[in-house]
Amino acid sequence: MDRHDVIVLGAGLAGLRAATVLAAAGLDVVVLEAQDGVGGRQRTDRVDGFLLDRGFQVLNPAYPAVRRWVDVDALDMASFPVGVRVRRTHGLVELAHPARHPSRLRATLASGLLDARELAALAAWSGGAIAAPRLAIRAARDGDDARLAEEWDRLGVRGPLRREVLEPFLAGVVAEGDGTTSDAFVRLLVRMFALGRPGLPAAGIQALPEQLAQRARTVGARIRLAHDAERVTHDGEGVRVDVAGGDPLRADAVVVAVGPERAASLAGVQPPTTHGLQTWWLDAPASPTRSRMLHLDGTRSGPVLHTAVVSGTAPSYAPRGRFLVEATCLLGDASERDVRMQLRHVWGAEVDAWRLLRRDDVRHALPAQPPPLRTTRPARVGERMYVAGDHRDTASIQGALVSGDRVARAVLADLGA
Ligand SMILES: Cc1cc2nc3c(=O)[nH]c(=O)nc-3n(C[C@H](O)[C@H](O)[C@H](O)COP(=O)(O)OP(=O)(O)OC[C@H]3O[C@@H](n4cnc5c(N)ncnc54)[C@H](O)[C@@H]3O)c2cc1C
Repeated sequence: MDRHDVIVLGAGLAGLRAATVLAAAGLDVVVLEAQDGVGGRQRTDRVDGFLLDRGFQVLNPAYPAVRRWVDVDALDMASFPVGVRVRRTHGLVELAHPARHPSRLRATLASGLLDARELAALAAWSGGAIAAPRLAIRAARDGDDARLAEEWDRLGVRGPLRREVLEPFLAGVVAEGDGTTSDAFVRLLVRMFALGRPGLPAAGIQALPEQLAQRARTVGARIRLAHDAERVTHDGEGVRVDVAGGDPLRADAVVVAVGPERAASLAGVQPPTTHGLQTWWLDAPASPTRSRMLHLDGTRSGPVLHTAVVSGTAPSYAPRGRFLVEATCLLGDASERDVRMQLRHVWGAEVDAWRLLRRDDVRHALPAQPPPLRTTRPARVGERMYVAGDHRDTASIQGALVSGDRVARAVLADLGA
């Protein structure tokens, strides 16, 4: 029977980061991945010449974990502008970050979305987290946290910016639209948006985990695809992992980094609550706009939270002469008719000529992050068993990477390596 120092289950961001740290420390590490490729929730497919990520998502290079462990230059990123366009009752307006896009300041001021009282309340809301994120995290941990919607109500964030911009935009980021997410967590996300310019790797979002996998292999980890771990049991001085249709493997320790839906059954942890997202990918023969911004429907006339011409920003996502449009909804019962009607409202009648390429329903897109914010959960959950993933730290690329790193270091300490 195969025997290793550590078996890592799952080749998502957390598992790949953990494997890299463990193998770099000289341990014999094998990663078992159930799917036919690495990446987990970050996969990309080529469909009719388009690059379709499995659910629209962006990479923010300002995440500290990304700055530390990812070669962002090698990803050849295309960045979205830091701003949005909003379809209001009387037309389309624009809101852009004044420091990043000073030439758009006049348009921003004319948007009609800036209400002095609401702006002051928002500045009070976000300012602390932007200036002192560690303090914000500590305060939240000590119980000074609330649901986002309650906190906005309390501070008087009640104007058009909240209703027409922040609510739909942030619902797409935290995958829920009721404002039940931790206020402290959202403020930390907003800090990242203030510091970075989210974008897409030229080869698709999967290029990020592919790079991490390459690094893990370089330091000696082996990655076995199409290896679905069925069970983890204690076995003498170590652990045994049973694999569907294959031989069992043994190791001194196992890191379960299988994502929120499988962690409970494999590692016996409390099943995390998750939220789902849905992306509609459309092929447009002509671009409906020259703007590269995310577009929001301020009138909230349908299920779409945001839509963008993705290939306007990242041309590699569409074949020459075609344009790729995304429309993101919460995972629910949105029909194609509803989505198209709303897209028509945002973009115009040309939407009728757009071809639906694919709809991605991602049921466990993000773990819920309710108050009070907990940024870490125990690395070790049993004898020689560890759990990593965004659901153990924070619901993001940053959280998944930090989790993999943190858990690997706990394994190293316990094994005395
Ligand atoms: C639609 C969508 C939009 C998102 N948008 C953003 C965004 O804009 N910004 C951001 O920061 N984050 C975003 N995220 C979240 C981000 O993608 C995740 O936080 C991150 O990828 C999670 O990584 P992970 O390693 O924790 O888990 P996963 O990626 O879920 O990895 C788990 C891996 O384990 C494998 N596995 C499962 N069961 C087994 C088994 N039994 N045996 C072996 N392997 C198994 C899976 O196949 C998978 O490869 C988004 C996610 C989605 C889906």
